[in-house]
Amino acid sequence: MTTVIPAIVASSATDSLALGTIERRDVGAADVRIDIRWAGICHSDIHTVQGDWGPQHYPLTVGHEIAGTVAEVGSEVTKFKVGDRVGVGCLVNSCGECANCAAGSEQYCLKGAIGTYGARDLDGTITQGGYSTEVIVTESFVLRVPEAIPYEKAAPLLCAGITTYSPLRHWNAGPGKRVAVVGLGGLGHMAVKIAHAMGAEVTVLSRSLSKKDDALGLGADHYFATEDPETFRSLRSSFDLIINSVSAAVDIDAYLKLLALDGTLVNVGAPSEPMPVNAGTLIGARRSFAGSNIGGIAETQEMLDFCAEHGIAPEVEITSADQINEAWARVLASDVRYRFVIDVETLKA
Ligand SMILES: [Zn+2]
Ligand SMILES: [Zn+2]
Repeated sequence: MTTVIPAIVASSATDSLALGTIERRDVGAADVRIDIRWAGICHSDIHTVQGDWGPQHYPLTVGHEIAGTVAEVGSEVTKFKVGDRVGVGCLVNSCGECANCAAGSEQYCLKGAIGTYGARDLDGTITQGGYSTEVIVTESFVLRVPEAIPYEKAAPLLCAGITTYSPLRHWNAGPGKRVAVVGLGGLGHMAVKIAHAMGAEVTVLSRSLSKKDDALGLGADHYFATEDPETFRSLRSSFDLIINSVSAAVDIDAYLKLLALDGTLVNVGAPSEPMPVNAGTLIGARRSFAGSNIGGIAETQEMLDFCAEHGIAPEVEITSADQINEAWARVLASDVRYRFVIDVETLKA
């Protein structure tokens, strides 16, 4: 048995999105049914639908930044009850048995973590995302959204928040650490807020000076324009950690030279083209070039609690379901400060 619900649907890689319907499974014993209230728009949604990361199963509903309330729980659910404010991020399942799952790193499941949309779930169906009125998720992949986080701002934490929180934690951002954030978009602006709250000295590296005032307001201590070649000379060997949030290929070797001894540059953006690195740049100061993919479920809960405790939330612009194509066009044009969130009530009318 399935239930048909309203959703925003992509019917191909090239068609505009349209209002339509999808099917949801019945609530199983370990499942939670979530009445979706807010759904964030992530650049990955667009990459996926457009086929930039490989062929997709259409029709497809995307969205992996979900905030809503529990509407129904299965008979074995213990962590949630009807009415709880909850979230779902980029993952809805994993094998639960491999070494990485056992370590709480479900995103690195050796059998392949199940993404919130466009992935083949353990039951064989293709997962459908949060641009819809409800979702059914096994309780172990549901997050608790603290009341201190404004409801309409919670959704983007589930992807943009955890994607930046996890590497900042892993590489010990904190007092005495010099952290640079490359790119000030959905991911970058969260990296600035979180690194600042962790106590690090934060520098934003953005193409032009146009976002300088914003960056300083978000908590950055310094700001430099990367279109100015002097930036790469004056900041050489200046940072312990660089978070690169840009999803297009950049001259990564030039950024690696900005790392101090033992520094690490972590890519969280995923350009489709390779980025050449000179071994000499790494050897010259024992530098590391790394990557990081979202976070595990326990760490995502830790991030939500951290944001609640420190009063951190994304800067959002609310949009409606019938404006989705305009919103996507503005995301592609980097014309949003800093995350769109769909008011899912507009999908229910
Ligand atoms: Zn995302
Ligand atoms: Zn696993």
